[in-house]
Amino acid sequence: MRNVVLLGCTGSIGTSTIKVAEDLRDCIRLVGLAAGNNAELLLAQARKLQPAAISIADPSRAQELRDLLGGGMAVFSGAQGLVKLATLPEADIVLIAIVGTAGLQPALAAIRAGKDIAVASKEILVMAGEIVMREAQAHGVRVLTVDSEHSAIFQCLEGKPAESVRRLWLTASGGPFRTTPREAFPDITIERALQHPSWVMGRKITIDSATLFNKGLEMIEARWLFDVEMARVAVIVHPQSVVHSMVEFVDGSILAQLSTPDMCLPIQYALTYPARALSNRVQTNLAKLGQLTFEEPDPERFPALTLARRAGEIGGTLPAVLNAANEVAVEAFASRRIRFPDISAVVRRVMDRHPVIPHPTLEQIIEADQWARHEAERG
Ligand code: NDP
Repeated sequence: MRNVVLLGCTGSIGTSTIKVAEDLRDCIRLVGLAAGNNAELLLAQARKLQPAAISIADPSRAQELRDLLGGGMAVFSGAQGLVKLATLPEADIVLIAIVGTAGLQPALAAIRAGKDIAVASKEILVMAGEIVMREAQAHGVRVLTVDSEHSAIFQCLEGKPAESVRRLWLTASGGPFRTTPREAFPDITIERALQHPSWVMGRKITIDSATLFNKGLEMIEARWLFDVEMARVAVIVHPQSVVHSMVEFVDGSILAQLSTPDMCLPIQYALTYPARALSNRVQTNLAKLGQLTFEEPDPERFPALTLARRAGEIGGTLPAVLNAANEVAVEAFASRRIRFPDISAVVRRVMDRHPVIPHPTLEQIIEADQWARHEAERG
């Protein structure tokens, strides 16, 4: 039995994690649930799953939840509530699926309390990959991944050392604008950007998939998770999203992991690792799929990849700046204040203005994040 704390239980990854836990009642128990604003869904989940503790972002909703749930369950709130949950004595592993940067502090708190972490929130490794991996090593805990691409690479690597790897190949669906001509990019609307061809996900990551910033963030994540330099992290467009990613070894052999797209699979693997648990949820019929195709990404229409490579290569505070500027620009696009191509233009401008701090402390990373948000708001 593995005791799991789930941060971001009301989101897309969160609700899929609950499905996985319900499929595998004999080996996964949810002992903590944390939500942002969706108190109604958190209440329903808490009543059904009976965790030891829950947390909600807004402190004024916590008392309401306490009254409705009676005395048996601890109810926390705010940023402190996330840390309380991440360090619950009974937790073995903390799955972090909070959109934005709020997952970083609880991730570090969990590591320092000796818990394994399973990371969906890309911001954690993009902003503070060096610190997170160093702390995990110091405390002897695992950093597992819930992203389908990184889970694929993890499964192909099976613990083989970085020297045996020639390249990590992240696959990208190419998003809804894979074949859209460059001239049409300024007219792309938020409604069209939210129509992802192969995955149903939260709003921010769906827009990031349309700009390919999602893949850029994943390149930086891969660099830290698997301890390879950026030059050996490559991206290939694969519209069917069946090959989730690949590892090319030094002898020229390439291993890939395949399945129909369903986040329940990487979530389950992270929570049962190193075991594989029986599940019929994901079925893959290759004959029915017929063909799998691959193409080069287009850096002209999707500058996010080049920007992310630069951020990952230079390192220091620059990845945090890229991440924060992108978050602000995505919000500006979603509220129709800027056009689709302006998202990468804003990120580039903010990155160009940033004086990079190498090997930053957590405080310096958070300062760089705040600075970048302010700069991005200026446009
Ligand atoms: P959603 O927008 O669907 O969900 C976000 C979750 O975070 C919600 O449960 C939300 O709560 C919660 N949340 C937001 N702010 C806070 C806070 N301050 N405190 C506590 N909880 C908070 O996002 P996704 O599930 O799509 O993505 C989550 C993360 O996983 C992102 O970083 C994304 O990049 C990553 N990811 C997602 C994938 C996917 O397939 N969706 C694939 C790989 C990675 P509420 O709804 O109650 O406000």
